[in-house]
Amino acid sequence: VNGLTKHFPVRGDLFSKRKTVRAVDDVSFSIAKGETVGIVGESGCGKSTTARLLMHLMTRDSGDIIYDGMSVGRALSLRELRRAMQMVFQDSYASLNPRLTIEESIAFGPKVHGMADSAARALARELLGKVGLRPETFANRYPHEISGGQRQRVNIARALALSPRLVILDEAVSALDKSVEAQVLNLLVDLKREFGLTYLFISHDLNVVRYISDRVLVMYLGEVVELGPVDQVWDAPAHPYTKALLAAMPSSDPDNRTETPPISGDPPNPIDPPSGCRFHTRCPYAEPLCANATPKLNHIDRMGHQAACYMAIPGSGHSRAPAKE
Ligand code: SF4
Ligand code: MG
Repeated sequence: VNGLTKHFPVRGDLFSKRKTVRAVDDVSFSIAKGETVGIVGESGCGKSTTARLLMHLMTRDSGDIIYDGMSVGRALSLRELRRAMQMVFQDSYASLNPRLTIEESIAFGPKVHGMADSAARALARELLGKVGLRPETFANRYPHEISGGQRQRVNIARALALSPRLVILDEAVSALDKSVEAQVLNLLVDLKREFGLTYLFISHDLNVVRYISDRVLVMYLGEVVELGPVDQVWDAPAHPYTKALLAAMPSSDPDNRTETPPISGDPPNPIDPPSGCRFHTRCPYAEPLCANATPKLNHIDRMGHQAACYMAIPGSGHSRAPAKE
């Protein structure tokens, strides 16, 4: 993903000009085959819009999305894209047709892609077994007749029916009870191994992201502010926003207090976001330079850990910036 950008125009009121929501702004990252990459950030930070752009459910303004050497929506046709990538959403009802049985729902995609009805139904039953639902019990039920956790298992089976290589999970376990969530997470880990999948895992739940991800992107108001191997980012966060997010996590250990000041206020409106570093209105370390120009992602180590903060950029002029190497 290179320089991915999506802005939404919003109508101003009588006295103001048209404004722009900078939903995704110059976002770049990569996902290697077999990896699980997490995206975290508060609601409205651009996580879901990024996912929808990757799936070509909306068109990007600029930037490129390259899948296996082919540009999504250009060299890679939508039909090929649906075979390459599938998505599971938070709302387990939303992607299931209430008038189709579970077997019919799972068989639907393969049939659209040319599989015979009997083969598609057989595949659906096989996939039900793979997601832990006995086909004899579940195949002929309707979505409203099963629990939320079972419906999400059906959605996972549905996503796998076209044999995708990348599965995008957008808050896919967030609506589930904690015990059900743990079961579905373990199922995702097992399926990844069995089918050789790659995941993009979007969640506001930092514990879940740490559990499942190899690398993580932290987004704030449409931009990536930190990325790297999940353990490095969690153990030594470099961006004050990441520090604040992690410090705000409920800790199971009462002695495990950090000195990071809690994050203040709600995220600013993504319509006409703050100048320079977009976090400067909430950052305890903000200095005048932070409001003037946007800090670029800068490598912190050789492990791919990067942060977009003047404190992580040697020679930036920030009073806390590390000395030049
Ligand atoms: Fe805070 Fe400045 Fe770093 Fe932005 S660039 S996170 S305002 S210290
Ligand atoms: Mg979202």
